[in-house]
Amino acid sequence: MRLGVHVPIAGGLPSALAWARQVGCTTMQIFSRSPRGGQAPRLNQAVVERFSAQRRQAGIAPLVVHSPYIINLASPEPQVWRVSVALLQEECARAAQLGAQYLVTHVGSHRGHGEAAGIRQVAQALDQALETAPSGVMVLLENTAGSGQGVGSRFEALAAIREAARSQARVGICLDTAHLFAAGFPIHTPSGLAETVAHFHRVVGLDHLKLLHLNDSKVVLGSCVDRHWHIGQGHIGLEGMRGIVNHPAFQQVPWILETPKERMEEDRRNLDAVRQLVRPESVPRTRASRTRRSATRTAAHASG
Ligand SMILES: [Zn+2]
Ligand SMILES: [Zn+2]
Repeated sequence: MRLGVHVPIAGGLPSALAWARQVGCTTMQIFSRSPRGGQAPRLNQAVVERFSAQRRQAGIAPLVVHSPYIINLASPEPQVWRVSVALLQEECARAAQLGAQYLVTHVGSHRGHGEAAGIRQVAQALDQALETAPSGVMVLLENTAGSGQGVGSRFEALAAIREAARSQARVGICLDTAHLFAAGFPIHTPSGLAETVAHFHRVVGLDHLKLLHLNDSKVVLGSCVDRHWHIGQGHIGLEGMRGIVNHPAFQQVPWILETPKERMEEDRRNLDAVRQLVRPESVPRTRASRTRRSATRTAAHASG
């Protein structure tokens, strides 16, 4: 399991990496610039190279970049749409320079022009942005909480965007558990989770799921409001989270926590909460088999 957090970038790349290491991340997400807009700071090549080398050495991979919130790829207004495409293009280049594997983006709002029109705008925006983008970065469309005229809370819309894009091989999906819950998917119960996963697989395909944003929700099911909360302490709750982190569909993708924090301690606590929920048999690789082997050995010794 690759597990990490969205790391604050205010102190620059070296302090972001220090944060990730100190809380015990094996993957991490950052903003490459202010999420609320403005000019992006220039990336210093020497600093970036040191960051990449130290990140790899620390075994923190993949690196995920989250694009700014002001991007609206679904916008019907030509000027807003053009600026959004340019921003996405720039973010792809910055993500590549940072050595990121994924660039997560929200889809945006159709502003009253309807979902179908929004979907067309997004697919076109992706094609245009990815035409010139470095090949190493995959764009991940993140599902949204379903407020207002936003596109992308329904799996059908996410699938339609991928299918309409010529660049679909470079477009994957990021599922955010708090957004799913707010959009009305009852992932806090075993049957609701099973149905949601089956629905996603039928409509989008689990192969296209590349990342999980693991967040509890401060708001109730179907409230369409985006309020992340501490793992196990929100309306998804501890048992809901246990079901999610042990679900087979999510074992092959990295998990990023975007839970609230002012101090590192809060990240540590939420990461610990996740680790404690994971049952050893859910971990597919060596750790579980090693545990099983040593358990067998212990049993043999005890009986012998
Ligand atoms: Zn997001
Ligand atoms: Zn998210």
